Amino acid sequence: MAATANYRPETLAVRAGQERSQFGEHSEALYLTSSFVFESAAQAAKRFSGEEEGNVYARFSNPTVSMFEERLAALEGAEDCVATASGMSAIMATVLAHLKQGDHIVASNSLFGATVQLFNNILSRTGITTTFVSHTDPAAWEAAIRPETRLFFLETPSNPLTEIADISKLVAIAHAKGILVAVDNCFCTPILQKPLELGADLVIHSATKYIDGQGRVLGGAVCGPKKLTEEVFKYLRTAGPTLSAFNAWVLLKGLETLKLRVEAQAANAARLANWLEAHPRVARVFYPGLPSHPQHELAKAQQKNGGGIVSFEVKGGREQAWTVVDHCQLLSITANLGDVKTTITHPASTTHGRISPEARAAAGINEGLLRIAVGLEAVEDLQADLERGLSLI
Ligand SMILES: *Cc1c(COP(=O)(O)O)cnc(C)c1O
Repeated sequence: MAATANYRPETLAVRAGQERSQFGEHSEALYLTSSFVFESAAQAAKRFSGEEEGNVYARFSNPTVSMFEERLAALEGAEDCVATASGMSAIMATVLAHLKQGDHIVASNSLFGATVQLFNNILSRTGITTTFVSHTDPAAWEAAIRPETRLFFLETPSNPLTEIADISKLVAIAHAKGILVAVDNCFCTPILQKPLELGADLVIHSATKYIDGQGRVLGGAVCGPKKLTEEVFKYLRTAGPTLSAFNAWVLLKGLETLKLRVEAQAANAARLANWLEAHPRVARVFYPGLPSHPQHELAKAQQKNGGGIVSFEVKGGREQAWTVVDHCQLLSITANLGDVKTTITHPASTTHGRISPEARAAAGINEGLLRIAVGLEAVEDLQADLERGLSLI
């Protein structure tokens, strides 16, 4: 599609990036091929050296993957996008492409659990160290900067408490010292939040979540200016965690309905959050779209709406929270999120179960907390499903 810059997101979502083959297919083609054939020895040499553009081997590029990359880049307003096998490999690739032994990361203390493990237990072995600081306190980020700090890493809203990090403020602090800012935009997607417009250097995705939206495949991506994504590409083509063509094809189709799904899921989440806040068995609701959220104003300025994730504390502790979970007949008991099917999880015994009870308490994740990733079912049906357990506690 030519000149994508002028189209609105709805149009980009279904049109951007498509390259038709000689057969004129209307739906994007799935190119299940690991290598590509050259017309001559001379052309092979030029393709390998990079003198001539074109596909060589699927670890480097594949036309279906390229279509997905171009469509996501268009939605994020990024010059370029590099797809990866998963969200975690997108984070790994970003760090290893831009940091080296001795470098330092300042990261939010409420990151996705596997990201914390990656920074603490795997990247630390390469001599890249991380300091975790308060998600919501820009002064703490500034105070943690060292001469060797190369990267600020954050995701917002946080999981599961939906705390908001002020992207523009953190960007200003980082850029004053020549530090890169990478934002994991998995929870909001470009439909609700555009970190690059707020000054971030790189946007990272777990495409596994909202971008697929139907819980089918793993995938990830890194979006940003070509001078930064090029380094990520060099790492990927050599180290290998590239996105498979089949998964790219599924995700490309997921992008077509991303805006419709994310907006409908957020509307459902807002209704559910309001209902929970008024519920006598609920102690507290965490949802950026509620005026009671401590950072409601910042959320309104930074995100289009409150998003699809609602957390809440039941009155009581683990027993009461588990009662709600165990009486769900409709909501799926799983930690996945971004799916059109609503999911419910008890963070203290699942996603945050490996953290010490003291650290969990310090992070505000108590035993009565439940997290719901709201899908597309009728809100009345979701309420009835939750009411079954809530009425028993
Ligand atoms: C799921 C998730 C990831 C990791 O993505 P995978 O595709 O599972 O590797 C990273 N960040 C956030 C915020 C996530 O929710």
